Amino acid sequence: MVTFRSTEDGLRWIETLFDRLGHRAYSGEPVTQLEHALQSAAFAEADGAAEPLVAAALLHDIGHLVNDLGESPSERGIDDLHQFHGAKCLRPLFGRDVTEPIRLHVQAKRYLCAVRPGYLDALSADSQRSLLLQGGVYGAAEAEAFGQTAYAADAVRLRLWDDTAKVAGLATPDLAHYLPLLARCARATPDFTQEIAPC
Ligand code: FE
Repeated sequence: MVTFRSTEDGLRWIETLFDRLGHRAYSGEPVTQLEHALQSAAFAEADGAAEPLVAAALLHDIGHLVNDLGESPSERGIDDLHQFHGAKCLRPLFGRDVTEPIRLHVQAKRYLCAVRPGYLDALSADSQRSLLLQGGVYGAAEAEAFGQTAYAADAVRLRLWDDTAKVAGLATPDLAHYLPLLARCARATPDFTQEIAPC
């Protein structure tokens, strides 16, 4: 079990996680986990997103690193539930404006498949395979309910950056560029009593 003693501790934990595991391939795509995170954040910034949503874009797949299940678990029929593990890890450090779009970004895919023509067909092979493990395309009632969920709109924006953040060799700012932004987005009163997943 990881425990943070301070915001600085928590931010160092994030940096260490990317340093240690960010080189891993991103689920059969031509980018690493770190490149995918940085591209997602860069697209969010370019789109004029508020800082908490840029932070969410950067950290949305941190659950893949925390889970430590290796590369492309969906190829082995495993749904690693990374959206929940990632949000849970980050709750001591960040508010809902960061953690909720992360928690909801898989549901946002199920939602977009239901409401946006052509979205499903445009997903990568790995994303289509993991969709089935994640519960598949939402029905009409599920999609409507999701659309009314708090932070659903942010989760959908994040999802669309996520889907395109798979460009081989794309130049982006590095992780150090985003650390001050993460510090600004951290809770004014960190809640270090919350349990977080092991790393
Ligand atoms: Fe992603």
